[in-house]
Amino acid sequence: MRNVTDLIRSTAAQTANAIASGEVSAVEVAQAHLDRIGAVDEKVHAFLHVDTEGALEAARAVDAKRAAGEELGPLAGVPLALKDVFTTKGIPTTAGSKMLEGWRPPYDATLTRRLKEAGVVILGKTNMDEFAMGSSTENSAYGPTGNPWDLSRIPGGSGGGSAAALAAYEAPLAIGTDTGGSIRQPGAVTGTVGVKPTYGSVSRYGLIAFSSSLDQGGPCARTVLDAALLHEAIAGWDPMDSTSINAPVPAVVAAARQADVKGMRVGVVTEFGGEGYQAGVMQRFHESVELLRSLGAEIVEISCPSFTYALPAYYLIAPSECSSNLARFDAMRYGLRVGDNGERSAEEVTALTREAGFGPEVKRRIMLGTYALSSGYYDAYYGSAQKVRTLITRDFDRAFADVDVLISPTTPTTAFPIGERADDPMAMYLADLCTIPSNLAGNAAMSVPCGLAPEDNLPVGLQIIAPALADDRLYRVGAAVEAALNDKWGHPLLEEAPAL
Ligand code: GLN
Repeated sequence: MRNVTDLIRSTAAQTANAIASGEVSAVEVAQAHLDRIGAVDEKVHAFLHVDTEGALEAARAVDAKRAAGEELGPLAGVPLALKDVFTTKGIPTTAGSKMLEGWRPPYDATLTRRLKEAGVVILGKTNMDEFAMGSSTENSAYGPTGNPWDLSRIPGGSGGGSAAALAAYEAPLAIGTDTGGSIRQPGAVTGTVGVKPTYGSVSRYGLIAFSSSLDQGGPCARTVLDAALLHEAIAGWDPMDSTSINAPVPAVVAAARQADVKGMRVGVVTEFGGEGYQAGVMQRFHESVELLRSLGAEIVEISCPSFTYALPAYYLIAPSECSSNLARFDAMRYGLRVGDNGERSAEEVTALTREAGFGPEVKRRIMLGTYALSSGYYDAYYGSAQKVRTLITRDFDRAFADVDVLISPTTPTTAFPIGERADDPMAMYLADLCTIPSNLAGNAAMSVPCGLAPEDNLPVGLQIIAPALADDRLYRVGAAVEAALNDKWGHPLLEEAPAL
């Protein structure tokens, strides 16, 4: 690692090794990334807050540990961009909303704490759709993020800031949350790797809730191995989260190193493809299927008929839960308070604050959810959606009785232009067509780059889906695809993103 370009282009695994061997200091690595952020983030807008002092202090602590001869963890000194939906003690946390502008949490999320304990250097907090509702990061109250492949296009959402930070070489690691696709879809459209771990395997304590039965934090990186290293750092049982799974974390790093699909049975989901899917996306997907076959996987077609109803079920369940979760923003407990002139009632101040503090998409969801949960309509909407959820889980159970993993495109299209779907919620919701079933069922899924679409030269993602607690299979398959495609095309991100 001789120069700054090497420092920002290295993988997390390489950087950690270089720091552990003394080839480079953690402070040099942190400074190189802070400089990169300083140089490009005005254009990209991946970050809402950069914690220069905190990052350098964390890096100094890693260097001091090494100097004292203490053993360093596998990610010690590696910089990371953290989605602004996890609490960070004393550091602004907004969830992309005006409602939380200026709020400094009094505590760290469990995930934040684990990262700090692993010696990971948190560079700052990344931009996101308000309260993680969206597929483009355009719903952020703080303005959109650009896709480093083409700054006039969206970087996906809701975790567009985290994915863009990776693709722009502002950080080698990032954290996202995936309620309906917000890790995988941004990964797909930025040419990066994104993983939604099994529901309950990464703690939600300190994750600002959108839809509690769906929300899951997870790793984002430029390589499958880096994602695996981060996965092992953040996953594991947490007594502070009542939905946390008390089970061993699957050996995802070993699986990523194994990178072998020989003898695996891979199911192609027949429902995902056809009308509405971009030709170049389907072309790269079909090539990936053939690639897996050539690597020794057995390919079968699998029909999951209930997946057709996943999107409408999700758009009843997620808004229902959000209408309840967001009730806490009452102008009394956190952040914003509007119209408190000493004469208005608490109810009036709450109403004025919610009117001013929430953006249009958040209001739409609260309205939808409140309606779906109202006594006259509960069974017709929320109740029916829960039944569909069960049917989707059964489709997965049937499929996984036959195959080890399922695959599909991650998204129907590549990155679309900023503004194109901003006024069309239905078009926006379609971006998550392929990712939502795994949130409803709670199993594990990954998006891994599988080339560029020929018609627009933009990244395409391959989605790999595994049963709950079999996250290691994602990494086995993902690493095999990554290695085979690197031989063919070179890593898509080895060339500097053209727009920067
Ligand atoms: N795009 C989906 C939504 O708007 C998913 C968001 C997410 O995963 N956080 O709800």
